[in-house]
Amino acid sequence: MNTEWQLKEDIVRICRMLHRKNYLAATDGNVSVRLGDDRVLVTPSGVHKGLMEAYQILIVDRQGRVLGGEGKPTSEVRMHLLAYELRPDVQAVVHAHLPYATACTLAGIDLLEPILPEVVITLGGVPTAAYATPGSDEVPESIRAYIQEYDAVLLSRHGAMTVGTDVTDAYNKMEKLEHTARVVLAARLQGPLPPLPEAEVEKLRRLGEKYKDGGS
Ligand code: 13P
Ligand code: ZN
Repeated sequence: MNTEWQLKEDIVRICRMLHRKNYLAATDGNVSVRLGDDRVLVTPSGVHKGLMEAYQILIVDRQGRVLGGEGKPTSEVRMHLLAYELRPDVQAVVHAHLPYATACTLAGIDLLEPILPEVVITLGGVPTAAYATPGSDEVPESIRAYIQEYDAVLLSRHGAMTVGTDVTDAYNKMEKLEHTARVVLAARLQGPLPPLPEAEVEKLRRLGEKYKDGGS
């Protein structure tokens, strides 16, 4: 059983990793972990993710009211809370400002297209949510239609959010998404992106179902 402190330490470890990998700059991005049925651990607003400490992680209720810790919760707390509300299977949410993946949203590149087999298997695809003002109520509304079906969603001109069975799982999806975006953008410099053949996509989707069920 994970203790509350261990979960806070896990969040901090992931924040530092996001910063080290240049998946966000300075205070950008936010991370949360579900804490039982009615509470969530969230990063505070405006704190540098490379310098975050476990004692700074806040506890909020399902309405975003602070139950423990000092300061204000992340301005994207409503996006995190919506993911927990709509997806009982989700235990952690990560939001980052991935440079290459965000560039894809600016370049109009659709990462739902089946280009790389690894993405079809593990993420199914990555939809792009319409532009929403960061930190506003528009953000949860922009992802509402997608997060029920997908574990990774691009936020137009802003970044991405991923969900997972724990904070490492959600982080792994972020890393996979940024890697994909780098490959896709590099290939786009050479010309149009060839999608995988339909029969191969079907095969990969079946593999993906097995992967989700814990098969190998
Ligand atoms: P916070 O510092 O409030 O978490 O905001 C960062 C961010 O990425 C807003 O979209
Ligand atoms: Zn953001």
